Amino acid sequence: ERTVQRIAAGEVVERPASVVKELIENSLDAGASRVAVSVEAGGTEGIRVRDDGVGIPADQLEAAVAEHATSKIGDIEDLDRGVATLGFRGEALYTVGAVSRLTVRSRPPDADAGAEITVDGGNVGDVRPAGCPEGTTVEVEDLFYNTPAREKFLKRTATEFDRVNAVVTGYALANPGVAVSLEHDGRETFATEGNGDLRSAVLAVYGREVAESMIDVEWTPAGDGAGADGAAGDSAEADAPVGRVAGLVSHPETTRSTRDYLSTYVNGRYVTASALREATLNAYGGQLAPDRYPFAVLFVEVPSGDVDVNVHPRKLEVRFDEESAVRSAVETAVEDALLDHGL
Ligand code: ADP
Ligand code: MG
Repeated sequence: ERTVQRIAAGEVVERPASVVKELIENSLDAGASRVAVSVEAGGTEGIRVRDDGVGIPADQLEAAVAEHATSKIGDIEDLDRGVATLGFRGEALYTVGAVSRLTVRSRPPDADAGAEITVDGGNVGDVRPAGCPEGTTVEVEDLFYNTPAREKFLKRTATEFDRVNAVVTGYALANPGVAVSLEHDGRETFATEGNGDLRSAVLAVYGREVAESMIDVEWTPAGDGAGADGAAGDSAEADAPVGRVAGLVSHPETTRSTRDYLSTYVNGRYVTASALREATLNAYGGQLAPDRYPFAVLFVEVPSGDVDVNVHPRKLEVRFDEESAVRSAVETAVEDALLDHGL
């Protein structure tokens, strides 16, 4: 039974970054306005995610770490739309507990005391009282200590941290209204303010030079400013393959040597899609130096039926039914934004 449990865990939890992703999603589902992530040795030795969300009552802690435990009612449609709750399978805490030493400590805002539970390699301990602030703290120590095959698969600490950083950055930029912070081996990597402003989140994550070079992108099929609130515009947009493209892209001279800074979101969900990256790069035409890539944070809205997010349930890849329409909308949106700035 334990073996089956551990194999199943490996499917969901591949590496520290995938644990971090699950824990951040839980915090956002819990309505947190602050999410503080801190990791040790790239997350291989320790991961802690603390939030100020609704918390878990003491009498529900055991259920939270049990198999197929979910307090969330939602269907696959919720996941497709990237709205409502992000998690839906009720297996993240259970699987993480199977391959690490997991502690969940929580205090709902209306409770006068907190409580915690520890799961060690699948062995669930007793619920104990614990002093803690309002909200939830999840600690994961020694990930894969009991699954040597998986442990060997982990890369250098720096590589694992890069992946953690990419995940936390992705959520921080997608949720500028939530104060998201990341710490590695006791040093702060970044902390966003959570004031709802995308530029301010970009400043926190990428620094001043990049933030100041960022150009606003705002595109709807109805065209510049027209029709977005009008009845005629609404009916036209309802059938359109792309409802909106919005976000920020950098000046063509503010670049890096990798594509890692092209962040794309479909219906609010962080995704990778080569169609979106290529369309963004095409919009720059010949303005980028060879082997240089811009920064971009682009939110694309498409009808939920037109996007397939289940290429792999735990991967970030998506495919579009109307791929060429999506490509041309993104390219036009970015081109227009650059043109507005005489570029
Ligand atoms: P899922 O998110 O799919 O429901 P998880 O295993 O990730 O499954 O979490 C199990 C349950 O634990 C959640 O449904 C939720 O009730 C509770 N939970 C987990 N993390 C948090 C959190 N940070 N704040 C509040 N509740 C949480
Ligand atoms: Mg979850």
